[in-house]
Amino acid sequence: STKLRLLVVANRLPVSAIRLGEDSWKLDISVGGLVSALLGVKEFETRWIGWAGLNVPDEIGQKSLTQALAEQRCIPVFLEEETAQQYYNGYCNNILWPLFHYLGLPQEDRLATTRTFQSQFDAYKKANQLFADVVLQHYEEGDVVWCHDYHLMFLPKYLKERNRTMKVGWFLHTPFPSSEIHRTLPSRSELLRSILAADLIGFHTYDYGRHFVSACTRILGLEGTPEGVEDQGKLTRVATFPIGIDSDRFIKALELPEVQYHIKDLKERFAGRKVMLGVDRLDMIKGIPQKILAFEKFLEENPIWRNKVVLVQIAVPTRTNVPEYQKLTSHVHEIVGRINGRFGTLTDVPIHHLDCSLEFHELCALYAVTDVALVTSLRDGMNLVSYEFVACQASKKGVLILSEFAGAAQSLGAGAILVNPWNITEVASSISYALNMPADEREIRHHHNFKHVTSHTSQEWAATFVSELNDTIVESKLRT
Ligand code: UDP
Repeated sequence: STKLRLLVVANRLPVSAIRLGEDSWKLDISVGGLVSALLGVKEFETRWIGWAGLNVPDEIGQKSLTQALAEQRCIPVFLEEETAQQYYNGYCNNILWPLFHYLGLPQEDRLATTRTFQSQFDAYKKANQLFADVVLQHYEEGDVVWCHDYHLMFLPKYLKERNRTMKVGWFLHTPFPSSEIHRTLPSRSELLRSILAADLIGFHTYDYGRHFVSACTRILGLEGTPEGVEDQGKLTRVATFPIGIDSDRFIKALELPEVQYHIKDLKERFAGRKVMLGVDRLDMIKGIPQKILAFEKFLEENPIWRNKVVLVQIAVPTRTNVPEYQKLTSHVHEIVGRINGRFGTLTDVPIHHLDCSLEFHELCALYAVTDVALVTSLRDGMNLVSYEFVACQASKKGVLILSEFAGAAQSLGAGAILVNPWNITEVASSISYALNMPADEREIRHHHNFKHVTSHTSQEWAATFVSELNDTIVESKLRT
């Protein structure tokens, strides 16, 4: 075909592989997120490069998996167990994730010695090098390469070092923290310089981009311009590309008989009660304890609402082998138990807390029957749950209570009730306000949000980033 090729490089492929035998594989293809976003990039033919999520130590396994994935236009990167552990669980999830969400660097109990830090950082660079090797193996002149997220911050540098004319973009799906936070990272300068090797750098919000530019000016002493960052005449473009969702997928799902059945079932189960909903991975950044404590305060202060409202909290298990996440799970269970003991009756409890993920159709039904959605993230790159809720509310026009520390607050601020999740009193009174909100106000607020969610889709996001990446290169070629 004559189409340009787009190589999308992310830590995880959009496919999960399960090994059935020595050379036979079952592939579970994920339909959400980036995959549907890239359907919007119609002028390009997309290839995926990433880790398949499992260790494949033997050659027969690697060959057969590579073949099976090729049919899905996916190219695997193989990481050894030890590298994967140090790179992914170590540097990515134990160092970068908490730091980028303002939880700081690990204290001694999370980080035994500086040697561990160094070995995790080395594994991170090694893993990025392996990703670069695979990209370079498959790269053809004219391809556009789009690197994703905090896992792959060394990739732009490693790619450009070996091919200066390659078009490289990098997008961060998390917040980029204030330069005051970034400067605590021992490898702060190296990381910034590696990202700067890209031609275009994208963030969800203007603030994240500004934080990045400040880090480059203050830590590296480079020059920040309205366009991006300049280093000895070479400009790296920095811009804002707020992601969206495939809103049609949710809107259409609501029409399916299966979803209609779930909706009917849920309505019967919660008859006579207002439904409040939280959907989060069970992560410290989601502010789940804060949310539940605010709900308790609301029940305490509003006795007439007891038995008339239920909070459904879907807490999707994540990083379950990490002690801190295990601690968070027990902590949440403890407060849920206390509140249900305190306000429950023989037949009803105020909080339905589920430690599991839901199937797509069940999730859509739950979004559709919800009266008030509660997003209390302490920090969150964007938060797509808030978008998905809005997409499913065309008939109900429920209320969104949204943390001002989620990227989504920048786009849904006009329709949502924005809260500081640390302020339990404020969240509790917002719950009361939301539950009592008159229909006309709900309608106006919903309309704002719905218009935004259905017009700023993930497809449009991907198409814009990729076309700007192309244009950026054209400009720089013109200049020289
Ligand atoms: N989600 C899911 N299964 C569930 C609950 C949620 O697949 O049982 C999805 C949800 O639809 C959303 C994503 O998980 O697309 C969460 O994205 P978000 O940006 O809100 O937070 P993240 O988990 O990426 O921090």
